[in-house]
Amino acid sequence: MNLSYILNELGEERENYFNAIAPPIIQTSNFKFNTVEHFRAALADEYQGNLYSRGFNPTIDILRKKLAALDGAEDALVFSSGIAAITVPILALLQSGDEVICVENPYSWTIKLFKNFLPKFGITTTFIDGTDLNKLEAAVTNKTKLIYLESPNTFSFDVQNLAAVSVIAKSRGILTMIDNSYCSPLYQQPIAYGIDLVAQSATKYLAGHSDVVAGVLTGKKEVLEKIFNNEYLNIGAALAPQNAWLLLRGLRTLEIRLEKISETADKVINYLNHHPKIERVLHPFSATNKDLALAKKQMKKCGGLFSIVLKNAQLEKIETFCNSLKHILMAVSWGGYESLIIPACAGLSTAEFDLNNKRHTLIRIYIGLEDADYLIADLEQAFDKL
Ligand SMILES: *Cc1c(COP(=O)(O)O)cnc(C)c1O
Repeated sequence: MNLSYILNELGEERENYFNAIAPPIIQTSNFKFNTVEHFRAALADEYQGNLYSRGFNPTIDILRKKLAALDGAEDALVFSSGIAAITVPILALLQSGDEVICVENPYSWTIKLFKNFLPKFGITTTFIDGTDLNKLEAAVTNKTKLIYLESPNTFSFDVQNLAAVSVIAKSRGILTMIDNSYCSPLYQQPIAYGIDLVAQSATKYLAGHSDVVAGVLTGKKEVLEKIFNNEYLNIGAALAPQNAWLLLRGLRTLEIRLEKISETADKVINYLNHHPKIERVLHPFSATNKDLALAKKQMKKCGGLFSIVLKNAQLEKIETFCNSLKHILMAVSWGGYESLIIPACAGLSTAEFDLNNKRHTLIRIYIGLEDADYLIADLEQAFDKL
């Protein structure tokens, strides 16, 4: 489907709301029925229409149509957070005794889901190096029900071969799911590679303004309907109509934001690649990625997220560098208009920090909508402090 059509028109039945250009926020918890017969039909199958805003709502529906189309999926469910869009379907599709294969180093709360939460229900997870298909195949048992991917992940940017994993999974009747937050639907289309379920933190690029927490799950209608009618309604992690409206507003500029962010990130990465105080820059399209060819085949672009390692990256040096930045803000999250930095060492006690652990010295940078020269000047004055 045409991207301009999706972002500007799809799902917007303007004659239903006074031909207003901007969609309304249908701020209601419930919907009325005129006959018992209609009421009964709605109660029997909430997936078909509007009954109660813990389920569907007209503002949410516009968003669902656009998000499904962006992923080339049959349908979409939206959630009050990205992690709910990951947790709810996994709780819905697995049961006690099932096993999961998950790539190593996914998003932090995804790790906690698999390591701490699911074992309470008798579901166990094997973490594997997802860049190695042999290791993935070797981990499959007759209890494996789900292969969970995050390609690329958002700190070290490892990529998995989506088409090959999907073939392995399909031949054994195993479901596949991916966290596609890094690429967004504009830069990677996992469903086209045969992946069954695509989750995203809509908090990031889709909303794009650092003012909404939201999640999206896309896939086959039949699977999403089953999830909706059970765990989705039971767990109650629906998105509020007001936040759905902010997301619709964010989507209008998704394409131009991502274009600008990618262009600026390329300039900043080029500056960093030639900087004498930099050991290396990590991102899927970097020359040092062992799976560079695969990344270029699966992904259109990289967007604004990458990591750096300083030369002789002692803790004091990393802290001085991050503390010295004036415009690039130190904060969690990414995907908004503002450039951000997170040193991995902020998640470790000073005693835990190990100079020889490759993950400990990473500093993640997110490039927002500021000009490249403005950001480079900020980085340069921070380098000068080292
Ligand atoms: C932020 C993030 C999530 C979680 O999304 P929330 O909207 O914060 O719940 C999941 N995966 C990745 C890759 C993320 O960056």
